[in-house]
Amino acid sequence: MSYAEFHSRRDGLDNQARMRKRMVREQIMARGITDENIINAMLAVPRHLFVPEAFRARAYADTPLPIGFGQTISQPYVVAVMTAALEVEPGARTLEVGAGSGYQAAILAAMGCVALGIERSPELYRQTLARVRSLGLSSKIHLYRGDGTLGLPNAAPYERILVSAGAPSIPAPLLRQLAEGGVMVVPVGEKRRKQRLIRTRKIRGKYISEDLGAAEFVDLVGDYGWQSES
Ligand code: SAH
Repeated sequence: MSYAEFHSRRDGLDNQARMRKRMVREQIMARGITDENIINAMLAVPRHLFVPEAFRARAYADTPLPIGFGQTISQPYVVAVMTAALEVEPGARTLEVGAGSGYQAAILAAMGCVALGIERSPELYRQTLARVRSLGLSSKIHLYRGDGTLGLPNAAPYERILVSAGAPSIPAPLLRQLAEGGVMVVPVGEKRRKQRLIRTRKIRGKYISEDLGAAEFVDLVGDYGWQSES
């Protein structure tokens, strides 16, 4: 590597970190997210490595981006809102349904969660598995391929469950796999791409839900989700 190349690579790295800082300041903190653990995780996780090369320059922009196969990585602010809604605690066993690029799972892992992610698309699953390995995250993020509306019964219960796609109703198997005292967050809507973010707690065997506001996610497709892609 030449001297000039070395410096341009180093500047490239610094530049990503700079853009990440700016993203956190302008999109996350400015909109009222104050949890330091979330802020630190978003400063640490290299989002540009979770988007396709063609979109890398926009990795820190205030927008969702395509990740292929008709799917998207959520806008950074939405990831922060979902993470805050989940009331993440270090060490919590956390199931993410709709792992997509793995970015949300990487945020959870950076916050000290044991993250188990399920992804329906075989291609995305393979890509994301390779990404998790190359980033050295295999011990913190465990990826599975399958219909996440069924949860992952073998490793249940989960202290936290996050559904990263829009469901017509809360999938019953996920309720069953929520631990006592656990928290689950699911975008629920009878119309596609138009949901309410519903947080459900399991308290002494009872499920108590609250509406956290509007959401707009791609379809959760599966036995306990939409029957086909829109
Ligand atoms: N959290 C992801 C983005 C999620 S996009 C990220 O950080 O990149 C929603 C994802 O849910 C898509 O990848 C889609 O393939 C997946 N999905 C849809 N239905 C699913 C199901 N039943 N089980 C698992 N994944 C599903």
